[in-house]
Amino acid sequence: MITCNGKSVYGGIAIGKIHVFAKEKQRITRRTISDTAKEQHRFDEARAEARAQLAGLYDKALKEVGEANAAIFEIHQMMLDDEDYLDSVNNMIADQSVNAEYAVSITADNFAEMFSSMDDAYMKERAADVKDISERVVRILMNTDSSGMSANEPVIILADDLAPSETVQLDKELVLSFVTVHGSTNSHTAILARTMNIPAIIGTNVELSSELEGRTAIVDGFNAVVYIDPDEDTLAKMQKRRDEDLEKRRLLQELKGKDNVTKDGHKVLVYANIGNTKDIPYVLQNDAGGIGLFRSEFIYLENDTYPTEDQQFAIYKEVAEKMSGKRVIIRTLDIGADKQAEYFELDKEENPAMGLRAIRICLTRPEIFKTQLRALYRASKYGRIAIMYPMITSLSEIKKIKAISKEVKAELTAEGIPYNDVEEGIMIETPAAVMISDLLAKEVDFFSIGTNDLSQYTMAIDRQNPKIDEFFDPHHEAVLRMIGMVVKNAHDNGIWAGICGELGADMELTERFLRMGVDELSVSPSFVLPLRNTIRNLDLSK
Ligand code: PEP
Ligand code: MG
Repeated sequence: MITCNGKSVYGGIAIGKIHVFAKEKQRITRRTISDTAKEQHRFDEARAEARAQLAGLYDKALKEVGEANAAIFEIHQMMLDDEDYLDSVNNMIADQSVNAEYAVSITADNFAEMFSSMDDAYMKERAADVKDISERVVRILMNTDSSGMSANEPVIILADDLAPSETVQLDKELVLSFVTVHGSTNSHTAILARTMNIPAIIGTNVELSSELEGRTAIVDGFNAVVYIDPDEDTLAKMQKRRDEDLEKRRLLQELKGKDNVTKDGHKVLVYANIGNTKDIPYVLQNDAGGIGLFRSEFIYLENDTYPTEDQQFAIYKEVAEKMSGKRVIIRTLDIGADKQAEYFELDKEENPAMGLRAIRICLTRPEIFKTQLRALYRASKYGRIAIMYPMITSLSEIKKIKAISKEVKAELTAEGIPYNDVEEGIMIETPAAVMISDLLAKEVDFFSIGTNDLSQYTMAIDRQNPKIDEFFDPHHEAVLRMIGMVVKNAHDNGIWAGICGELGADMELTERFLRMGVDELSVSPSFVLPLRNTIRNLDLSK
């Protein structure tokens, strides 16, 4: 038995035969071209074909893994139109009279090297992307196939590395797991694997060779171990672990439609967080009771300019309708800090997390805010929309919001446009809001605690800076006490309080949250069923 270790990007156990995923090694030779214009045209045609293939992959990924994960194939299409990239290839063809395959592959190497040498982790990852798109173009130019997958029974894929396009192209019916020698935990591939529910291990110290083809292996995604030719004991142990895991997943499915109620009858709302309408199928599949946080700023981030009232109305109406009367809490735009849209033309700030962001932008640029509010109120006729305001720190902000919303409603009424009364709540994500939550509770219909920002501002830990991770305590007593205080002040004033930050999905804390009286937990769709399971196993009377 050979035992290899790596880093797990998704849990679960897979047992099966190995398929060594061999990339077609492109042998690219340099040729001299006499008609360089014709060669540039050949490159353009290959690029158009590559774009069409990527559009197909985007659609496939969209259906299978959702918009956020499919986005990489849109980025790849954009990279194919990047002016610097095109200039480099076209100039090489024209100036050096070389074939397109050669120009593309040299350009890919140069760009990948440039990206790899950058400090920014995100830009480093782009090195793999530029190689991926270039290999696709070269394959088209050379008319060679790309799949590298010829298995006809479910297999464990063993590869040096897998590009996002390769991962998504895998026929998931035939893939039990994948194991790679390279790759990073936060690469698109890792994220895709998690969304696809395929146990996966990267950075594995396995010696890749065709001799491994067809041999039995076990991938233990829980412990990041791969066993090749497992002995009987290991096989039996892992089979048991796999069956337990499958049973656990099956049981979770059975929770659909059941109440989120503890053994002693305490009910709690379990909602889901979304970034756009493409996430709605995940909300429905996981049977969330509503949407507790729709981060509407993504509509702004996905646009090149301010989204119009009608554009926004169509989106809010779609969510409201698709959720068929379940509560949909839409947060007004939270642009600024880590979420920047260029057309807002915000000044560069020393401390953007403490700068002009969220409600501060809305209150200083009311025309943007009013457009969003008009769209929201109009959409309220189509379902149960609630509006939530982010980054509140004072009562005066609430007063200003109310004045603007009153104006908007008066305009709609004057124009004969119907709207419903909606619940209007605020995010509690600053220590200031916590400390005056007794006063704020008298002014709004609900509170939703944004623990991501609340933790950042309470512990003075930049949530974007991985270098200070060791000082970040997600269970810091200060934050937990604040949550308790907010819930108490909410209840004392007759309103409800939920949590929509990441901490809401931390199942080590569920019991404590319920004991505090938290009324709602809004989490990523994939956490809805596990959380429901945790709730149903709690007994608060003990
Ligand atoms: C939060 O701060 O906890 C929150 C839910 O909002 P965001 O993560 O979008 O800032
Ligand atoms: Mg926040």
